[in-house]
Amino acid sequence: MAQSGFHGLIGLYGNQVFLQRSSLPEKERRDLKFGFVLGNILPDIDLIPLVLLYLFDSKLAMTMHRTFTHSFFAAGAIFLFFLLRNRRGLGLGLMAGMVLHSLVDILVWFSGVELLWPLNLFGLPGGVNLWANYTPPEIISSLLGAADYLAYGLYFLYLGHLALRQETNMDFLPRLRVYTNLQWLLTAIFVALAFVVKLSLFNILHYGLFSLVMMPLAIFITIKLRPAIEGM
Ligand SMILES: [Zn+2]
Repeated sequence: MAQSGFHGLIGLYGNQVFLQRSSLPEKERRDLKFGFVLGNILPDIDLIPLVLLYLFDSKLAMTMHRTFTHSFFAAGAIFLFFLLRNRRGLGLGLMAGMVLHSLVDILVWFSGVELLWPLNLFGLPGGVNLWANYTPPEIISSLLGAADYLAYGLYFLYLGHLALRQETNMDFLPRLRVYTNLQWLLTAIFVALAFVVKLSLFNILHYGLFSLVMMPLAIFITIKLRPAIEGM
């Protein structure tokens, strides 16, 4: 379970609530808004290499998820990288988004987060797992996987609404509508699959599609819709 679409929605909502009236200069505020939404999505890109590992060693792949990309150190390093390039707003947004993503992950999806990776590799504490003694029923895990597509659909819908309201990305909107409708279709297909295949097979089908196709697509769409996010 990753639900990057859900994290993207949190990023957009956060912009709406917190950044609307910030006193930063216009350019920095625009950078901050975009960085915050992208930062909320980015940590789950670890699934792209890990899904390939999953085919060979599913246990190892699952234990490596929510480690290196979910670490506060990674968020800090990205901030520093952009700060040194004079893009403070973008760095700040990405860092805040990534930190929020990891904190949300602690509460949902029923697994731990290595907030201070790589300290855990040296036997030091730094991970938080509220769910260590709980494994959800397989059907819940499968249905949450199917909900990944629903979350993407809602995220794309929100982005499309923002673009339409501000009349940005008008040429891209018909394509965005196709991608959004595709998410509804995939939601229906994966809800059906959740009831007919075992979780192990469901995970291979779902994570394969989600990580290798949908995740890059969501990042592409977020970057494409940057003007709509910056202007919100
Ligand atoms: Zn995550």
